[in-house]
Amino acid sequence: MFDKNKFFQTDLVCPVCKAKFKQLKLKTSAFRIKTRDIDMCNTYEGINPNLYSPVVCPECGYANLDHSFQNNLSDVVITLLQKELPKSKLYKIDVTGERDYVRAIDAYEQAIYCANIAGHSASLLAGIYFRMTCLAKSFGSSDEDEYRQKAIEFYEKAYDHEEFPLGGKMSQTLVEYMIASMYFKLNKLEQAIYWLNFSISRDPKGLTDPKAHAMIKELWMTVKSVIKNK
Ligand SMILES: [Zn+2]
Repeated sequence: MFDKNKFFQTDLVCPVCKAKFKQLKLKTSAFRIKTRDIDMCNTYEGINPNLYSPVVCPECGYANLDHSFQNNLSDVVITLLQKELPKSKLYKIDVTGERDYVRAIDAYEQAIYCANIAGHSASLLAGIYFRMTCLAKSFGSSDEDEYRQKAIEFYEKAYDHEEFPLGGKMSQTLVEYMIASMYFKLNKLEQAIYWLNFSISRDPKGLTDPKAHAMIKELWMTVKSVIKNK
């Protein structure tokens, strides 16, 4: 049942059509992180915040993750989006309110559609697919691994072509961990080992990010024990 005490509304302006609208957001008190798995997906008590991460303009359908939604777009990109968005699934569809899993996935897919048209960075797409992976996992969807594979693809692309910290936040070592751990979850152990070895030989003392380096070493031990028991 919808509990309005767990939400608040933010005022947003769409960077494409300039429409003003209100987006439902979760209060931080509405959920609590219970555990963080090896693949960096959290399990939550309360409402899963990944349901509300993508924002979609109810007028033109422009979508992006909430922290990037109001970023400025060039005139060329705006013109392109204005031309393409009327053909998209969520054009003039309002998903600013309460969401279930299916509605949230629609919103993420709309954000991917827009990112491809706008030429957004690989790291942004990686972040979208990573959130979809964790959401699918928490709802027991069979799409989990398909999203994870796409997240890997875009993290690898971002690793090769973007500067660290990725998206202003993720250290090089943390990205190496993310890729290795996702390969591990897909049971692609060779690729996981490649990234773990690469990370340890690139920065043997873990100077780039000591916390992520410790996670790399812990994951290495886990992978080793899996290989031993095979
Ligand atoms: Zn709009």
